[in-house]
Amino acid sequence: MPTTLVTGGAGFVGSHFCDLLLEKGHDVVCLDNFITGSRDNIAHITGSRFRFIEQDVTEPFSYDGPLDYVAHMASPASPPDYYAHPIVTLKCGSYGTHHTLELAREKNAVFLTTSTSEVYGDPHEHPQPETYWGNVNPIGPRSVYDEAKRYAEALITAYHRTHGMEVRIVRIFNTYGPRMRLNDGRAIPNFMHQALNGLDLTVYGDGTQTRSFCFVSDLVDGIYRLMTSSVNEPVNIGNPKEMTLLEMAQKILQVTGSQSKIFHKPLPEDDPKLRRPNINKARRLLNWEPRVDLETGLRATLDYFKQQMEPPKS
Ligand code: NAD
Ligand code: UDP
Repeated sequence: MPTTLVTGGAGFVGSHFCDLLLEKGHDVVCLDNFITGSRDNIAHITGSRFRFIEQDVTEPFSYDGPLDYVAHMASPASPPDYYAHPIVTLKCGSYGTHHTLELAREKNAVFLTTSTSEVYGDPHEHPQPETYWGNVNPIGPRSVYDEAKRYAEALITAYHRTHGMEVRIVRIFNTYGPRMRLNDGRAIPNFMHQALNGLDLTVYGDGTQTRSFCFVSDLVDGIYRLMTSSVNEPVNIGNPKEMTLLEMAQKILQVTGSQSKIFHKPLPEDDPKLRRPNINKARRLLNWEPRVDLETGLRATLDYFKQQMEPPKS
């Protein structure tokens, strides 16, 4: 049985990835410090094939057992989270990547990291293929995240070239689903929280900016296919179905049946105007494409958020 270490495994994406790895027969070592994740996300996992280590990945650490894969997913990911933790975010991409790469090298393990569509910044090419180099403000408020991920990609590629290490870089586009924090500040949790509480939905700017939202089960399927492939270059994983944020707000009003209104707030600095993945590479090399339609994904997410809002049973 392969053993996989997952940093950030108590987060939204990481916990779904741990579930999938266990389903595929891996032993899983999950490492997290809960800065943006939660014990609740992994509380359902029991049994000796799962082990949890509470550890800050930006600090040096060692692991004794054998490892076949190291998946470095730990990093604040929501804009309000990385605005609140700018230096931790830079350290997750730099020190965190360095520590986990060295661990993978020592164990002769395949290394994977979760990069992001943010490496494309506010893109001048649309949709974005992996060959696009991006348009990132190196000192803007988003730079702590974008540049950390760009640095990580450069470091990983240098380890591949220098040490011949097997590396995987997944560039994730906006993903949603159960286990997102209701207050994590990203568009879908915000809109759902607001709709369920009869509050105005806060659309930033005029709402004409676009995103392409992928359901989390599709994402982790793509990550698993990439990890177990032999592709050492970045691959976009995302759902190419693009929509404006105003359309998303309206869709959430429909799905929740809420009577809430839409209220516009200022657009955050450097907020990308357009985002849509070109997924030809994932289709060709991984035989992957998303399967879950928006309505199904939003309903599953809504069920989860409703459960989260229920008062605890005494
Ligand atoms: P998340 O905040 O839910 O999960 C991140 C996890 O990493 C949390 O459990 C957190 O506690 C942990 N973590 C953060 N810093 C740590 C540290 N120093 N030491 C140990 N653990 C630490 O976010 P997510 O949406 O699940 O994102 C997971 C990964 O996927 C991140 O690397 C993120 O950049 C990437 N990603 C996500 C999306 C998306 O739409 N969700 C898009 C692009 C990239
Ligand atoms: N957004 C919004 N209202 C919110 C939260 C976000 O209009 O309450 C917008 C945000 O400005 C961006 C898009 O929704 O244009 C997606 O934001 P999110 O934080 O989900 O992800 P991002 O793509 O910015 O990382």
